[in-house]
Amino acid sequence: MPTKDEILSELGLGPAWRLRDFPGLAAGSALVAREPAPSAPPPTVDPAQSEARVVRIANLDWGSFAADVDACVACGLARTRKKTVPGVGDVRAEWLFVGEAPGAEEDAKGEPFVGQAGKLLDNMLAALGMRRGEHVYIANVLKCRPPGNRTPEPGEIDACRPYLDRQVALLKPKVIVALGRSAANTLLANDATIASLRGRVHRYGGLPLVVTYHPAYLLRNLPDKEKAWEDLLFARRTLRAAADASLFSGAH
Ligand code: URA
Repeated sequence: MPTKDEILSELGLGPAWRLRDFPGLAAGSALVAREPAPSAPPPTVDPAQSEARVVRIANLDWGSFAADVDACVACGLARTRKKTVPGVGDVRAEWLFVGEAPGAEEDAKGEPFVGQAGKLLDNMLAALGMRRGEHVYIANVLKCRPPGNRTPEPGEIDACRPYLDRQVALLKPKVIVALGRSAANTLLANDATIASLRGRVHRYGGLPLVVTYHPAYLLRNLPDKEKAWEDLLFARRTLRAAADASLFSGAH
C-alpha cells in the first residue's frame, strides 16, 4: 500500500506543501506581529438603524455586496482600515474558507490571504486540485483589519457577522472550512481548542463546517501541516457526502 507522501507525489501535489518555499516566516511574520492599537471610542449605534442595516445586508446580492462593505462604518475599524476586504472567489463555489481578519497586506490590497499565509493557503488549495477564484471562495470573519493585527473584539465580530452570514446564504457552500481557532470559535460560538474541534462535522447556518489550523500557524508549526492535510481530505469527504445527499434529495 503506498504511503500518503507517495500518493501526493504521484499526483504531483507534494511540492505544493513544501513550506521551505516560504523563507523567513517563522521569525517575525507580519501575520503575528502585534502593534499598539490606536485608542478610538466605539461608535454609538442606534438600535433601529442597526436592525435596518441587518435587513439591508441580508438582501444584498453579489453585485452590491462589496460596495456595501466599502461603505460600512459600523465599527471603529472603519477609521483605521486602508481598504475593506470583502472576500474573493467563485460565487458558485462549493468550498468556503473563512479566516479571522485581514492583515497588513490584505488591508493594502483589499483581498484576503495575499500575504505569506495566503501563499500557503493557495498551495493547500492546489493540493486539492483547486485554485483561488475557481471552485472556492475565501473570506474572513472581519472585513477590515484590526490595527496591529490584534484579536478581533466581540463588538467588531457582531457588527461584521451580517456580512459573513450573507456570503454564506448567497454561496450556500457544500462545506465551510474554518481556518484557525479564532474563526472556528467565532463561527461555532465556543471556546474550544482546534485539537478538540478537528475531525468532526460541525454546522454553521445549517451547513457542514470543518475546522483546521490557520495557515499562519502552520508556517510556524511545520509538523502540523500533516494534520492540516488530513483535515482537508476530511473536508473533501464531507463535501462529497453533502453533494451526494443533495443529489439524493433533489435539492441541488
Ligand atoms: N489571516 C487571516 O485570517 N485572514 C487573512 O486574510 C490574512 C491572514
